[in-house]
Amino acid sequence: MRPKVIAGNWKMHHGPAATRRFFSKFFGEFSPRLSGAEPTILIFPPAISLLAAAESKGGRPEISLGIQNIHWEPKGAFTGEHSVGMALAAGARFALVGHSERRHVFGETDAQVESKVAAAMREGLTPVVCVGETLDERRDSRVQEVIVRQLDAALLGVPEDVKNSILVAYEPVWAIGTGETATVDDVADAHGILRRRLREVRGDAFAQEVAILYGGSVKPANAAELLAVADVDGVLVGGASLDPESFARIVESG
Ligand code: PEP
Repeated sequence: MRPKVIAGNWKMHHGPAATRRFFSKFFGEFSPRLSGAEPTILIFPPAISLLAAAESKGGRPEISLGIQNIHWEPKGAFTGEHSVGMALAAGARFALVGHSERRHVFGETDAQVESKVAAAMREGLTPVVCVGETLDERRDSRVQEVIVRQLDAALLGVPEDVKNSILVAYEPVWAIGTGETATVDDVADAHGILRRRLREVRGDAFAQEVAILYGGSVKPANAAELLAVADVDGVLVGGASLDPESFARIVESG
């Protein structure tokens, strides 16, 4: 069985000082289990807080850090961007790619997602590829078409002889930051579609390796129910990951 993954996307919250405060409170709230069945915890702070997060987390092996966005070029005249190498040097081991805010606020395309996945895989950062439909697309019964198209584009960036895997996050756009959560049936359907597509495109062994997370208004009150759904290997949490106590409660559900 894949260990559950509990990921927190801080978006544009928590600078370096607030990051240090988060970790010292989080460590007071959350004690690792001794059973060995530990969830994997991923935290995606703003890039400017990565070093503070790396220092604050110290040697805790159950916690890894990620960057919220990367550029596909290793360096150059790309004001405001961060390369994979820079993210690695600042302590990141994972990268969100194609988050709905990147796609819908900043106009990120499927082709850019492919380039970012390829750059991450090439240089040793594990991509967490986000896919999800808008409310209009759901109303038009286009969920499968949209999430399969987004997944296929990302998979083009994953080399055939890949050693390290990717993660996928199903995040319906209408459920992000809205308080609306997809029903367990909707989540089971979407995760089933993604798992089947992974199998069709890359075979069973690859498909089994990929953790598929659900994201969209996850909170302490609904985390356990969502984590129990078939093919849900974890959750990607936005708003409720900012508070150390609520994030610790979600981690304990994993
Ligand atoms: C997210 O940012 O990926 C997210 C799921 O946000 P929220 O939990 O606030 O809906």
